Amino acid sequence: MSDEQLKGWHHLPQIPLQVSPVFQWPPNPLKIMKWFWESWFLITEKLIILALTFASYYWFSPSIDAARSLDVEWISLIYIRNFFLALVIGGLLHLWFYTFSAQGKNLKYDPRPLMVKGKQFTLGGQIKDNMFWTLGSGVLIWSAFEIVLLWGLANGYVQNIEFSDTPIWFVALFFLIPLWESFYFYVIHRILHFPLLYRYIHSIHHRNINVGPWSGMSMHPAEQFMFLGSVFVHLIVGAHPLHIIFHLQYYFLTAITTHTGFQGLLIGDKNRLALGTFHHQMHHRYFECNYGSLEIPWDKWFGSFHDGTIEANKKMQERRNNITGK
Ligand SMILES: [Zn+2]
Ligand SMILES: [Zn+2]
Repeated sequence: MSDEQLKGWHHLPQIPLQVSPVFQWPPNPLKIMKWFWESWFLITEKLIILALTFASYYWFSPSIDAARSLDVEWISLIYIRNFFLALVIGGLLHLWFYTFSAQGKNLKYDPRPLMVKGKQFTLGGQIKDNMFWTLGSGVLIWSAFEIVLLWGLANGYVQNIEFSDTPIWFVALFFLIPLWESFYFYVIHRILHFPLLYRYIHSIHHRNINVGPWSGMSMHPAEQFMFLGSVFVHLIVGAHPLHIIFHLQYYFLTAITTHTGFQGLLIGDKNRLALGTFHHQMHHRYFECNYGSLEIPWDKWFGSFHDGTIEANKKMQERRNNITGK
């Protein structure tokens, strides 16, 4: 392997990027355990979202009886709670990384600042544009899906899973949601890169060549609809309200946290919370690579993986030239 590095990046994580060890051969049980431990049980995005899910369910959700009929009171409770969650998480990360520049460029992938102004953006600037799509149609669709599924659960259209009946399945579902996400996101993301869909829908997300937290859910409403529509898998597999809340929060909030543009949140000199993934950051700059995540190596299997090395970059350029016919 050469010592050359990709150009134009400020911070580079350890490369080549590693996919989940579950899919590496020969299997290494220790590495697999470490992966699950680090992605779930240290203070991680997943754990924080799980805590938010429980708080949302116990304090800011209707009872299953109340959810039987569509009523303004609980519908607005869900909408306001979701709006608040998006605003606080997107807002705090933006303030930390960009407004106050609390860790400067430490762990920042792309050295360039966000684009304050730009004609390509709705409302004339990247941050306004990103907040507009996230807090506008994004929160609306998130809340609408949650409301429909809770109503479906309350009325018997979605099979109700109770911890007391099937505790293992109840717990396993939480672990399966991120794996399902990896598959689902890869598939719809590849479809969104078909020329027509890209031009009219996905290009809104790709206005962001350099990303910030508000870029994560900044998408055309049709894309938000497809992306969050993943939650309707519960029509087949059943759910407890906790699974539905977690599923949607996991999609929405990790879209925000994976787009911070930084590898993690530094407190003191330590990376206390792993955030943005270089994997997806490269997708925003190079397009023709890394459609999925690292949880399941779809990109590796379908030849679209860019692991951050010069070799992978050359391969990607060849793919791009083939597509554009140059
Ligand atoms: Zn894309
Ligand atoms: Zn993105």
